[in-house]
Amino acid sequence: RLLHQARFLKSAQNVEQCPPDAGFEVAFAGRSNAGKSSAINRLTGQRTLARTSKTPGRTQLLNFFELDEERRLVDLPGYGYAKVDKVTRQQWQRDLDDYLARRQSLTGLVLLMDIRHPLKDFDRLILEWSARAGMPLHLLITKADKLKYGAAKNTLLQVLKDVRDHPAPLSAQLFSATNGSGCDEAWRQLGTWLAV
Ligand code: GDP
Repeated sequence: RLLHQARFLKSAQNVEQCPPDAGFEVAFAGRSNAGKSSAINRLTGQRTLARTSKTPGRTQLLNFFELDEERRLVDLPGYGYAKVDKVTRQQWQRDLDDYLARRQSLTGLVLLMDIRHPLKDFDRLILEWSARAGMPLHLLITKADKLKYGAAKNTLLQVLKDVRDHPAPLSAQLFSATNGSGCDEAWRQLGTWLAV
C-alpha cells in the first residue's frame, strides 16, 4: 500500500519553502488535539511519522511526507489553542491561507474534527475556503471510539446535514486512530485524490 511508504520529506514555514509544486498532494487540517497526528500515523501504518504532541499547538510548520516521487501528504499546522498569542495565530492563518490559495498540486483537503467537538470556528473557516476555491473536502470525524456506535452515527448524520449545501465536493466519515475503524474508507478517498 502506497500510504505505508510515507516518509518525512521536509518542514516548511511558508509557501516558498515547500517542495516543488508538482504531482499530487493531499493536506490534513484540524484544530489542535483533533487527532490529526494519530490519524496520519494510523493511515500510514507508522507510529511516529507525525508527532503526536503533548504540547498543544506546537506544530507550527507545514510538514511534508513523501509517498512516491509525485505524491505527498501534508500535515498543516493545528489551530485552536488560546494559549498561542494573537500575532502568532494570525501569522499561522496567513501561512495557511497562502498555501491553500497557491498550491497547484493540492487535490483534496482532509479536515479532522473530534467527534465530541465538530464544526468549530476553525472548521467553518476551512469549509468556507473549500467552498470559495471549489476544493474537495473530506471530513474525518475522529475519536469515534469515544462514543457508542449509535451516537457516533448520529453525529455523522448531523454533520452531513449541516454541510448539505456545501458547493464543493464533500464527503464525511467516522474514524478512530485507536481501533483503526474507518481506515478503508479514508484510504479509498486518499487513493482517488492521489490518482493511485
Ligand atoms: P493533534 O493535535 O490533532 O495531532 O492530535 P493528536 O493525534 O496528538 O491526538 C490528541 C489526543 O487525542 C491524544 O491524547 C491522542 O491519544 C488522542 N486521540 C487521537 N486519536 C484518537 C482516537 O481515535 N481515539 C481516542 N480515544 N483518542 C484519540
